Amino acid sequence: MSIAIAIDGPAGAGKSTIARMAAKELGFIYVDTGALYRTIALACQRANVKTDNTLEVLAILDKTEVKLAFNEKNEQIVLLNNEDVSSLIRTPEISMMASSVSKIPQVRAFLLDLQRNMAKTNNVIMDGRDIGTVVLPDAKLKIFLFASPECRAKRRYDELIEKGMDIKYDDILQDVIDRDYADSHRDIAPLKPASDAIEVDTSDESLEESVNRLLAIMKEHI
Ligand code: C5P
Repeated sequence: MSIAIAIDGPAGAGKSTIARMAAKELGFIYVDTGALYRTIALACQRANVKTDNTLEVLAILDKTEVKLAFNEKNEQIVLLNNEDVSSLIRTPEISMMASSVSKIPQVRAFLLDLQRNMAKTNNVIMDGRDIGTVVLPDAKLKIFLFASPECRAKRRYDELIEKGMDIKYDDILQDVIDRDYADSHRDIAPLKPASDAIEVDTSDESLEESVNRLLAIMKEHI
């Protein structure tokens, strides 16, 4: 039987960095489910489809194949119709579009089996918004990671500046606040802690402190 650890929480709480490091330490596969929604958003952007136009998004889904794969370093890559789009899906515009397509029930259903299948055959740490509540309700351990909006915006700002992007902190903060609202107020699979999740606030911690805290929790539960 494979072991699944679910990590949910709002954008920028440190889920992906912490999950990636913890997976390496535990020898688990790290699955970033946000990349899947981002890939659908990219398909829409390329086809000039507005993500609030459900019918047009569904027409895109019909023509879209999304796959997850792992490179030689065991890092996840995401394929859109067999093209590796992993580095093209990290822009603020795609973040907002991903949040918008993720409200569409058919989009969520389209990605569900792909996510569940990853956990059937591998030990996984999977991060997202609804992993503990919907995708893997029987996960061995569920963690809900959060931090203040200002803290999360600062982290994302630093990350994007380091990648050479020309962005403003205030825009990132607004993006964080808007996405939190959209993700936690949608009708289907809203962002919320599973009733059996351990809630962890990373606001006042360094990355190293958060990783160590989470690793200790994981080792205790698996
Ligand atoms: O995690 P990331 O910021 O890459 O996710 C992008 C968007 O995809 C989120 O704002 C959210 O709307 C959506 N998402 C989701 N369910 C998941 C993962 C991401 O709805 N499991």
